[in-house]
Amino acid sequence: MKTNKFISVILIFLLLFSLTLVSCSSKKSGSSFSPPSNGAGRIAEESTADETESTEKHPDNGKVICVDPGHGFRDAGSGAEGHELGPDTNEADVNLDVAKLLRDELVRLGYKVIMTHEGEITPEISKYVSDESYQTYYFDPEERVDFINSKNPDYSISLHCNMYDDPIVRGTKLYVFDQSIYTETPSENVKASMSIAESLKHVFPDAKEPTIDTQSLALVRDIACSGVLIEMGFISSPEDAADLINPEWQKKFAQGVAQGIDDYFFPSGSDASATAGPADEPQN
Ligand SMILES: [Zn+2]
Repeated sequence: MKTNKFISVILIFLLLFSLTLVSCSSKKSGSSFSPPSNGAGRIAEESTADETESTEKHPDNGKVICVDPGHGFRDAGSGAEGHELGPDTNEADVNLDVAKLLRDELVRLGYKVIMTHEGEITPEISKYVSDESYQTYYFDPEERVDFINSKNPDYSISLHCNMYDDPIVRGTKLYVFDQSIYTETPSENVKASMSIAESLKHVFPDAKEPTIDTQSLALVRDIACSGVLIEMGFISSPEDAADLINPEWQKKFAQGVAQGIDDYFFPSGSDASATAGPADEPQN
């Protein structure tokens, strides 16, 4: 009997020991998904440091923005024929460069950003591009509208460069499709574009003030959400053309647009703005 009792004690001990091992190993695998805040431990540092950092840097504010770089593919846009922007640069290049900078700024502020394209026809985009336009031309405005509407964003921005006969004409123009622009009580759609224009004024205090107009353009007329089409500057103006291809100007422009959007969605004082708004951004 004594031997039986001894064996029972040993068995219970072994059982408890193995249970402790299981519990420790499951805790360990859990800890590699949520590392300690001091970053100790090689596994935690290797597997999750980047993820943690990006989450802290880019708080999710719950808003989705579509950014549409105008033209692209076989459509160079304005300025290709006369090489106003230089022999290897056209409107589509500038639109895409600024769009990528705008995307980065918005992501930094906590927005989810969907680009209509990044210069390539991806399998997803090809669903919207009809065979004929894909073979011969481009991702046309109505196809872009279908793509944007399928994403159900909170706001849409199309980026373009302007062109005019007279080289003296310059400046940024924002286009909405909204008659309330002429009234005392502008719609939310118009208010958003006003916020962008206001922010650009602060970023470029010496430039001609951005103007807002209503125009029947597919990218603002047929989208289901609010949105704006921005003609960033005139390729036909030597001064604007120099700005448009200047990476520093492009970055400031992108920051101005992103800040204007953020000022609209999260006016200063609101919670999301307090956590998302960086200190070095232009202030209204
Ligand atoms: Zn254009």
